[in-house]
Amino acid sequence: MLMINCPWCGFRDETEFKYGGQAHIVRPSQPELASDKAWADYLYMRKNEKGNHFEQWCHSSGCRRWFNVERNTVTNEITRSYKTDEK
Ligand SMILES: [Zn+2]
Repeated sequence: MLMINCPWCGFRDETEFKYGGQAHIVRPSQPELASDKAWADYLYMRKNEKGNHFEQWCHSSGCRRWFNVERNTVTNEITRSYKTDEK
């Protein structure tokens, strides 16, 4: 069971959270000019890395805010969690 550190509420059990997929996906600045491949990559292509991975999580049973987590996909160790407007 993961203990996730919500930047606003502190450590909580993972059952209070919803996983939101890979973090730091950047929308094309001019979607109407993006090629079909670039648009499909933006919509569907995600990394499936072994090791540290940046993810979006929502504290759905708490403050209902979204934030990012750096988690190791092998050990499940969470290195850090941070607000979406932080680097
Ligand atoms: Zn929270």
